[in-house]
Amino acid sequence: MSPPGRTSESGLPAEAAPDRAWLAELAWSPGFGLRANVLLEATGDRFSRVTPDAEQIPAGAVRLPGLTLPGLANAHSHAFHRALRGITQASRGTFWTWRERMYEVAQRIDPDGYLELARAVYAEMALAGVTCVGEFHYLHHGQGGVPYADPNEMGRTLMRAAAEAGLRITLLDTCYLAGGLGQDGAQLPLAGPQLRFGDGDSARWAARVEELAVGESGTLGPGAKAGAAIHSVRAVPPAQMGEVVGWSHRHGVPLHAHLSEQVAENTACLAAYGATPAAVLNEAGALGPRTSLVHATHLTRPDIRLLGESRSHACFCPTTEADLADGIGPASRLAAAGAALTLGSDSHAVIDLLEEARRVELDERLASRERGHFTAAELATAATSAGHASLGWPDAGQLTPGALADLVVVRLDSVRTAGLAPASVLESVIFGATAADIRDVIIGGREIVRDGQHQLLADVPAALQSVITAVLD
Ligand SMILES: [Zn+2]
Repeated sequence: MSPPGRTSESGLPAEAAPDRAWLAELAWSPGFGLRANVLLEATGDRFSRVTPDAEQIPAGAVRLPGLTLPGLANAHSHAFHRALRGITQASRGTFWTWRERMYEVAQRIDPDGYLELARAVYAEMALAGVTCVGEFHYLHHGQGGVPYADPNEMGRTLMRAAAEAGLRITLLDTCYLAGGLGQDGAQLPLAGPQLRFGDGDSARWAARVEELAVGESGTLGPGAKAGAAIHSVRAVPPAQMGEVVGWSHRHGVPLHAHLSEQVAENTACLAAYGATPAAVLNEAGALGPRTSLVHATHLTRPDIRLLGESRSHACFCPTTEADLADGIGPASRLAAAGAALTLGSDSHAVIDLLEEARRVELDERLASRERGHFTAAELATAATSAGHASLGWPDAGQLTPGALADLVVVRLDSVRTAGLAPASVLESVIFGATAADIRDVIIGGREIVRDGQHQLLADVPAALQSVITAVLD
């Protein structure tokens, strides 16, 4: 610990980035599993030392009762969908009727409203232990598709919202060019609210995102990195995909795409291109270790092999997939083939990464009528280190020296978690705890949530209430 006023080993003034120490009663990390009395020391925003079974406890170390986890990564988010939570459950319908409601909300959002909405949504995420969000961003332009004076105003708004909510963001700037594929495979033009998503063609998409000035390792600013996204085979014709893939390769940043969420997408893709969506993306060079395929629900055996052999990530969003009646994806077969699993809350029907994690296993149990496809440690890895790696932050999501100093503390004295046995506490937390059990969240050494209270936004529920009421009014 450096005394105040001294320069720390990282070269940062100690006042600006004071050294910190925490003593976790129990901690789990992909690196070392479950351990007791783990001393976590940080210099600046990174861990300098991690000592399980610590005996020498420095004075001033903050005690963390409960189970401490690394930061959680929400690998797939559309922030504005949060406004739909209150209005879409009262009606029936399909993914496609839900999408019409989503377009209505998209139509109403301007940059000022989006700053307020996204800041409150990201604060809700921080309260749920999310330390980094992958924002799959396609609401680019003004009404009718007219660009703002700064054509990246909406993207910059999302980065500002994340900074003000205290978490990191990977801005997955999304190429969205077509209104969909008809069942006969014909490509539909953008129409109505979709006009706000489009850049015309992928070259103009690339020219716009280039103005974000991507730095080394994809950095866009403090706590913000860049990524690219192909919305889906519905929205980006194959001939336009290469530009997006090439841009992500040039900058060495993540590339995400929605994949086979609905059977109708596969049918139309086969009719249009004579190949599955996974095969079309593969043909465009879009698969690989920096790639995440979101949903990956309706896959053929060769599709699973393509994702596995390319070491792509498969990002499951089980609460959204259930909400939208998408189906159950082949999570364990993808993992067995070599694809790394990650998790997202997507439409934010709920924001709870513990719920997303357990549903991967529980959905497989329902589909197979067998238990035990994923261990709790595998599910927790998806929510932590794998999720962060898929967003371009391989140095986050684990409790190890050099990693970003993120901590998520789950209380073990709530009505849901009381009575858990220490030896199986990770299993019990993954399968029985909720976001409401997350008590403290540290991001880059900063205390963002203390005792269930967000430290940067005084009243997150009130912020959500006011902005969503205004958006839906
Ligand atoms: Zn999505």
